[in-house]
Amino acid sequence: MSISSEWIAKENKYYAQTVRRQPVVIVRGEGTRVWDADGKEYLDFVAGWAVNNLGHSHPVITQAIVEQAGTLLQTSNQFYTVPQLQLAELLVENSCLDQVFFGNSGAEANEGALKLARRYGKLNRDGAYEVITAFNSFHGRTMGTLAATGQPHYQENFTPLLPGFVHVDYNDVEGIMNATTDKTAAVMLEPVQGEGGVIIPADDYLQRVKAWCEQQGLLLILDEVQTGLGRLGSLFGYQEYGVEPDVITLAKGLGYGVPIGAFMSKEYCMALVPGDHGSTFGGNALTTAAAYAGTKFLIDNDIPGQVKEMEGYLLGRLNELKSRFSFVTDVRGKGLLQAMEFESDISGQVLTNANAAGLLLNGVKPNAIRFMPPLNITREEIDQGMELLAEALGAV
Ligand SMILES: *Cc1c(COP(=O)(O)O)cnc(C)c1O
Repeated sequence: MSISSEWIAKENKYYAQTVRRQPVVIVRGEGTRVWDADGKEYLDFVAGWAVNNLGHSHPVITQAIVEQAGTLLQTSNQFYTVPQLQLAELLVENSCLDQVFFGNSGAEANEGALKLARRYGKLNRDGAYEVITAFNSFHGRTMGTLAATGQPHYQENFTPLLPGFVHVDYNDVEGIMNATTDKTAAVMLEPVQGEGGVIIPADDYLQRVKAWCEQQGLLLILDEVQTGLGRLGSLFGYQEYGVEPDVITLAKGLGYGVPIGAFMSKEYCMALVPGDHGSTFGGNALTTAAAYAGTKFLIDNDIPGQVKEMEGYLLGRLNELKSRFSFVTDVRGKGLLQAMEFESDISGQVLTNANAAGLLLNGVKPNAIRFMPPLNITREEIDQGMELLAEALGAV
């Protein structure tokens, strides 16, 4: 029995069976590569679910964690800590938002934004509390964000859902207009739908939604948990679409491997006041030190600019594969968030073949796989990944 299969047997016995895992036990990572418990090497196009934006074991992140771990980990938010405020300043000074709150995950970031929207509605819109979100969206798995998420298969086993959400088609401004009532407080959207299969809206969609929100006095909340921190080719996804949202949420790419989430708001609508919201671990010195070091490196080295250059390169290589394999029906993407769609539900088979070839991928839909490699991936690594993918597709 391989070492990996022994760990997999333990997982079956000891771990709650809530996740469909691929049979790869990862023990080490460096850059765009990881190694499993039996020493096999893989090229990683998942990057911890679009988290490891600078790759695995980046020295800047490792050093920040080690230094902070030997200095101060946790104080509670009754006190001020320096890394938290350095990160807050960096994010605010490089965005259109004015203030930030740190939590521990994407769902928690969205919960905070939803509380902000309800408080805003109470203060400014006569108690309005509804939030319009999109079908096929993904906002998290807590009770509030589950209700916000527009995919019934995540929700059905957990009804009754939290009230106060209205779903409309993505990329349909009229849908939002028609759903707006005097109970509406906010509209919450992803700049690109990630878990929904990498769905890219029309170029002017967010601008038109923003114009409507402004006219109606609604908050525009952008869930940038997946698109934030360079993934789409700008530091924040909203910059790709020329809009200024009122609120954004961040998590995945903000962490570089550590668990952190954030919501950011314009000052005029930061409706939360002392006592309204909090978090024991949120914004602790360890996670914010890592996030600060990573984000500073990202900005100083214009990693989002590199993403923009690689966008066309990866898309071009995926298109070559599309013309080679007739069962590939679509490739699409923005920045380094890309997808390949098949004519039938063969994602599982492609992933199995890719694992055998030494490539890690995400099966975002039964008939689509997603690519979200580290943002500092090189052309050569993309070439290697595409060779391995061709091998996996050839074995279908
Ligand atoms: C992953 C994701 C979330 C949830 O983040 P968690 O950290 O898993 O709670 C929310 N919104 C979007 C857009 C995501 O991609």
